[in-house]
Amino acid sequence: MSLPPQIRVLERGWLSSNNILIDDGDACVLIDSGYVAHAAQTLALLQHALAGKPLARLINTHCHSDHMGGNAAVQRARGCRISIPAGEAPAIAAWAEADLLLGYTGQSAERFSYDDTLAPGDRLRLGGLEWEALAAPGHDMNALMFYAREARILISGDALWENGFGLIFPELLGQPGGYAATRATLEAISRLEIATVIPGHGAPFGDARRALATAFARLDAYERDPAKLARHGLKVMLSFSMMIQGKMPLAELPRFLEAIPIYAAINRRFLRLPEDELREYLVQDLQRAGALRLEDGWLLAA
Ligand SMILES: [Zn+2]
Repeated sequence: MSLPPQIRVLERGWLSSNNILIDDGDACVLIDSGYVAHAAQTLALLQHALAGKPLARLINTHCHSDHMGGNAAVQRARGCRISIPAGEAPAIAAWAEADLLLGYTGQSAERFSYDDTLAPGDRLRLGGLEWEALAAPGHDMNALMFYAREARILISGDALWENGFGLIFPELLGQPGGYAATRATLEAISRLEIATVIPGHGAPFGDARRALATAFARLDAYERDPAKLARHGLKVMLSFSMMIQGKMPLAELPRFLEAIPIYAAINRRFLRLPEDELREYLVQDLQRAGALRLEDGWLLAA
């Protein structure tokens, strides 16, 4: 698996999405900008990778906090135009915190304005390659992927990772259709010829077949038992929050979980656990998974 030299993946962790920099000759294009708390690091990485070239455009696969949190800072620093999926435009224009899953999940982003939108079927010429924007509903109903047929490269955002995909938020939020949309997106990916997937998180990978098999198996398991999606969702949300905060007194956890509406909403909808039981479950399971440590009454991000 190798990428043409005009495509560079600035691989980040889980709090910030990967940043994909495509060299267009005279200028560069960036796909996704990471989480707001990492904006300074994103700018530094970008400065280095641009090597003196201007950044003409920033494109988002979707508008979750870990993909668009750095948009405002990048735009300020680089004066680039910003293109977002057309389906995200109303929420971004109005900065609808609820639709953008910001306060509702305890996440944040700096407000930005976009210059234009992209829709499924749109074609773009980037880095000497022709890319097609493809619908990627499921994790985010408005998300796009970008596919270069000739080079057989898929920029998948959170629709397909090497080992799964992004949380199926519609189902977690009680909006049916998320499973079917996820399935349709995975099936659409199955029909593509792919040599390399550049995911929103994790390293680029070559074996799309294996990743799809993993993703379909996971989707089947969630559909069979939605509580599984709920438990996974709560753990992902809490470890994301802990990556933002770094540490928190264990005694603070009840107030913390109460202040962020998505925890109680998911618990009410799927699990109906007493609050203390839910807390205990989350802390124990995240410790077992190595995502959290408990030390002297403090929860620490691992
Ligand atoms: Zn996402």
